Amino acid sequence: MPGASPRMPRVVSGEIKRTLFRDLFLGRLRVDGSEVYPLISPSELASLEPTFTQLRKAEDLGGVLRLRALDLLKPRNDMSLLLEARLVEQLGGADPSTALSFIAHHALGRKLVASYGTPEIQPTLRDDSVFAFAMTEASPGSDASQVQTYAQPEGDGFRIFGRKHWVTNGLFATHFVVVARTTPSQPGNKPRLTAFLVPSSPEVIREPVRSDVLPASGVAEISFHGALVPKEAILGEYGKGFRAVMSGLSEARLLLSAAITGASIRAYSDTIERLNQRRAFGRPVGNFPSVQERVAVLLSETFALQSLVHLVAGIGDAFGTADPLERGLARLAASRISARVLDATRELHGAAAFSGDVTQSRRWADTRALALLDGSDLALESFVVLEATRELRKGGPQVSLPPLPSPLPEGPKGVVERLWSSRHVSPTEGAPGCRLRSLELLTRELGNQVRHQFTSHGAEFVEHQHAHRRIANAALELAVWLSVLIRVQTEVQRVSTVGAERMIDAANLFTGGAEERVRRQFEHLSRNEDELRDRIARRAYTDGTYPFDIVG
Ligand SMILES: Cc1cc2nc3c(=O)[nH]c(=O)nc-3n(C[C@H](O)[C@H](O)[C@H](O)COP(=O)(O)OP(=O)(O)OC[C@H]3O[C@@H](n4cnc5c(N)ncnc54)[C@H](O)[C@@H]3O)c2cc1C
Repeated sequence: MPGASPRMPRVVSGEIKRTLFRDLFLGRLRVDGSEVYPLISPSELASLEPTFTQLRKAEDLGGVLRLRALDLLKPRNDMSLLLEARLVEQLGGADPSTALSFIAHHALGRKLVASYGTPEIQPTLRDDSVFAFAMTEASPGSDASQVQTYAQPEGDGFRIFGRKHWVTNGLFATHFVVVARTTPSQPGNKPRLTAFLVPSSPEVIREPVRSDVLPASGVAEISFHGALVPKEAILGEYGKGFRAVMSGLSEARLLLSAAITGASIRAYSDTIERLNQRRAFGRPVGNFPSVQERVAVLLSETFALQSLVHLVAGIGDAFGTADPLERGLARLAASRISARVLDATRELHGAAAFSGDVTQSRRWADTRALALLDGSDLALESFVVLEATRELRKGGPQVSLPPLPSPLPEGPKGVVERLWSSRHVSPTEGAPGCRLRSLELLTRELGNQVRHQFTSHGAEFVEHQHAHRRIANAALELAVWLSVLIRVQTEVQRVSTVGAERMIDAANLFTGGAEERVRRQFEHLSRNEDELRDRIARRAYTDGTYPFDIVG
């Protein structure tokens, strides 16, 4: 790949397995206590301190303007992924618009040009370039196979015709990464998607998208009226643009997870500040038991999400390649957990969630919108499961599946039920608070469920979204749980059980909740009301409007 950016090598630990998360889908949990959670050294963190200080001051600038003020538009190849994730976490906490602008510019622009661009276009990686990524269109939406934007061959290059929606940084970009078909749109024609780097020109027209969310990220509708580009503007291979696009989206997914984590941390901190000030019925609101219960869950869930995001970044650094499965899981977990966190912080603010400069309700909406840049959660659930079973699916429905680690005499379902009903597993097994044994058993059960679904649906498995959803949601809980375990383990080794007490408490609360959620997903895989739901939905489409009224 020409111009691939060098990245600071980083060793997490020789003991961290590359396939830590892929293994979960095969029912394998391979942890032996020697794993080390990735930490940032004080000197590395200090290198970002000037940025963080400016970030705290520059409250009035957002989006690309803030990135320019922070010197973050410049190429930086010296940052580890972990440091990058930490930076974006801070951006997400300060202003989600700025985080979104950074992710589009950095992961979906600069990195794609560096990794897939020809030597002729590498000079566009100069300090003042602003990149945007243009894939989504109005009619096919997120379905890339239906892209209508057409790159018409002309001489030694191409003319680009088409209209893209929802282009972050679209108002300010100097360059657009554009996904276009390279065969005309006619029935039976495969699109042969190709990615191009298109500079701003009079043939590129921008119109702002009217939207209530992420106001400073310069989201625009961009029309390409025959913009001419040379063949050197192709990113990656002609007709194989999907590969480049997927690698960009995979990069973006980790950073989006970090931004969402930052927004959740900020919402948590704002809530604690508010609860410390607010009094009702003669006492601080924070003293009500039901408020305390929510605060505890908020902290434990935010901590758990951050653990997964940092671990995925650390693994990326240690092994030098991005695994789309890890990043998909992180992004899905970020969306799920932040939805719970931000809903609770909104509730705990009372009416104050809807007033002030940056309200909690606004933070909620911005963060939900962030989780759409790379596609919807529903599509991501299927992506994660299909990616995890890619090898299995290659072998067809008759494939012989790898054996589970060791047989469970009473059958996995029985074990899960016994675990649940008796709760006899000591919570101090493995890393304290992390219920290692339960994690092991539930992971095995995930492996069984994947096998079962896969063998019973055969080739239809690809279409079986009900199963994808439950498998993905169980797997993401186990992935977060595993990350918490490795983080607590490392912290205990670093500062002893006494020093890590607060983290252990948070882990205990999270893993208890995760166990409950995973068990529910498994239960619904075998006993569910899918047919009932499908029937209701089908009729809803036929009705077209709300079908129940009180008129006799
Ligand atoms: C703030 C923001 C910034 C964005 N920035 C960019 C950008 O810079 N560049 C760019 O190209 N795009 C960008 N987008 C667009 C984004 O990629 C799309 O919104 C996203 O891919 C979803 O496409 P859609 O909105 O057309 O939804 P649709 O495809 O219309 O989907 C609507 C809903 O249908 C369901 N659905 C869709 N597909 C599936 C499926 N396969 N399985 C199950 N359910 C499904 C989901 O519930 C989904 O939410 C941005 C979006 C937002 C909100």
